[in-house]
Amino acid sequence: MATREFLQQLISNPDRLKDLVDYAKETAFQHGLIIRTHETPNSSEVATYAPFTLFPTPVPKAALLQALAVQTHFNTLVDKISQDPDFLEEALASTIQADDFAAKLFGIYRQVQQEGRTQSIVLGMNRSDYMVDQKEDGTPSLKQVEINTIAAGSFGVSDRLPMVHRLVLQSVGLVEESNRVQDTNRTAAMSAALAKAWELYGQQKAVIMFLVEESQISKFSHRCIEKELWNRKIPVIRRRFEEVSIGGSLDGDKKLFIDGLEVAVVYYRFGYMPDNYTEQSWETRLLMERSLAVKCPDVGTQLAGTKKVQQVLARPGVLEKFFPDQPDVVEQIRATFAGLYSLDMGPEGDRSVAMALADPEKFVLKPQREGGGNNYFGDDIIRVLQEVKTDKRRAAYILMERIRPRTEPNILLRKQLPITLASVCYEIGVYGAYVRHGGEMVLNEVCGYTLRTKNSENNDGGIIGGVTVFDSAFVI
Ligand code: ADP
Ligand code: MG
Ligand code: MG
Repeated sequence: MATREFLQQLISNPDRLKDLVDYAKETAFQHGLIIRTHETPNSSEVATYAPFTLFPTPVPKAALLQALAVQTHFNTLVDKISQDPDFLEEALASTIQADDFAAKLFGIYRQVQQEGRTQSIVLGMNRSDYMVDQKEDGTPSLKQVEINTIAAGSFGVSDRLPMVHRLVLQSVGLVEESNRVQDTNRTAAMSAALAKAWELYGQQKAVIMFLVEESQISKFSHRCIEKELWNRKIPVIRRRFEEVSIGGSLDGDKKLFIDGLEVAVVYYRFGYMPDNYTEQSWETRLLMERSLAVKCPDVGTQLAGTKKVQQVLARPGVLEKFFPDQPDVVEQIRATFAGLYSLDMGPEGDRSVAMALADPEKFVLKPQREGGGNNYFGDDIIRVLQEVKTDKRRAAYILMERIRPRTEPNILLRKQLPITLASVCYEIGVYGAYVRHGGEMVLNEVCGYTLRTKNSENNDGGIIGGVTVFDSAFVI
């Protein structure tokens, strides 16, 4: 592989390396691959380059195509689950006894179900993440890490990364390689789904509200989506939970108003973690959930993206329930599943505990959390399981087979990170969006993909947390 050889040479020539790294960073700024800094997350005066890899990463074409091909089925699956209270109730029964966050979300789900749903337009914007597992015989195999059904990000400014990578490769004479870096049109495609939901809501003056966090480090990426919407003359506002709690209300028809503006769509870019909520924001979440606004996602769709649901879906016969007449779809989805094991109380859970304690390196212990940095690996699995294994607290977790991706040499570029040749591994994230109006799917699309790469010494990931960086695929 020319890029690998090139990197080896480059690392022994520090002056040349520094020149190329500077060129890459300057090109990132030039094309708007930028992010606010951790020091000043709410300042519009200061930005840095969004973290990225010096070179794009080789990705097997077959794995990429497989991940793209299955996405519309995952969209359908998530949507079906979100509308199936019996399934969610059963799947999450033990989890909500052990996990307060899942319980709170489920409480809202149940309350809104009992009241009767008011809005028949459903909008989903998700990202299904995969690693390419390296089997013992060396063959690559696509395995799903998880699916994100709330605040799925990493599109926006990173759409410019393929361009930056092409220029970096061209600048060192790797022209043929540069031609294999693909653009993906994810921001436009994801925004089109938001626009479609707004259009179906049918009020020209109603707004799309981005529900955002206090620390707005990714604001430039949000701005990319906003631009797509404004180009369609769709008004966008940004609000935090506290602002909605002060300025938000429902009218007699349950229309949601914020500061006098009718809200057509609430687009959550926040609200996926327990510490995103105060008592007051839970009330605000309920208010929005009960409203006539389209929620992206509604609480049922958020629950459909939990690790517990992922584990239950891997049980024999469960996918068949959702796709009774489509064995080919079942097969396509199931082919991406890694081993997933219940930790509920009972003999099955006992077996999972024993398996994990006997060989922790083969597993990941996962709580119902999002955003990176929450999973347990290796000896930590033993420590946590020893603590919870005899009581129902263990049902807050699931056990997952550990995926072992192949590693590649690359250089991770992040503000203040020393320039070193690292052994890295990547995750493919495939974007999917759908809009359902009552019983009819009016849009169900795969919206491109992203690559996110980390040093393989790090078990867990996360871009904002400082482990993972943006990457693009060099298709092989
Ligand atoms: P989150 O919702 O916090 O992103 P993930 O399931 O994506 O949770 O896990 C976070 C990170 O942990 C992943 O990006 C990946 O690096 C690592 N990870 C998760 N599951 C596995 C697995 N089965 N095998 C190997 N690494 C994993
Ligand atoms: Mg996640
Ligand atoms: Mg993840």
